[in-house]
Amino acid sequence: MSADYRIVVQKDSLKFSAAHFIAYKGFRERLHGHNYQVSVAISGSVGADGYVLDFGIVKRVTRTVCEELDERVLVPARSDCLTVAREGPSVVLTYEDGARFLFPAADCVLLPIVHVSAEELAEYVLSRLRDGLDRHAMRGLTEIEVGVSEAPGQAAYRRAEL
Ligand code: ZN
Repeated sequence: MSADYRIVVQKDSLKFSAAHFIAYKGFRERLHGHNYQVSVAISGSVGADGYVLDFGIVKRVTRTVCEELDERVLVPARSDCLTVAREGPSVVLTYEDGARFLFPAADCVLLPIVHVSAEELAEYVLSRLRDGLDRHAMRGLTEIEVGVSEAPGQAAYRRAEL
């Protein structure tokens, strides 16, 4: 069958509320939060069961990632202007000008990204979904696209071949 199908999962339940700030050399936002929404589009061929991929699988894997990020401080562990350190039960972020944030470690999630932008969050969620959907790859999935919106009408999309 043709590979020219695309499924899109965009549900109110695929969301997380989290605190972040953008920081790069010479600029730092104040700490604030967003109600993020995640959407996922997957392209591929239709299998013998009539699906590209069961929506339930996509929702389950995406929900797991959202739950890990929900009600956390999103920490860019690869930042080029913040140092991120564990101090006992805390995570301490120090910006290049000496500004310090201290959070309980359990309230944080350290992400392998440089900036906590919607773009880099979309890249992170995509990598997690790619891992989570790996065993379904034999279904002839060809492409995945993840959207992360930090406010209505304000989203970044990251697309990759599977
Ligand atoms: Zn923000």
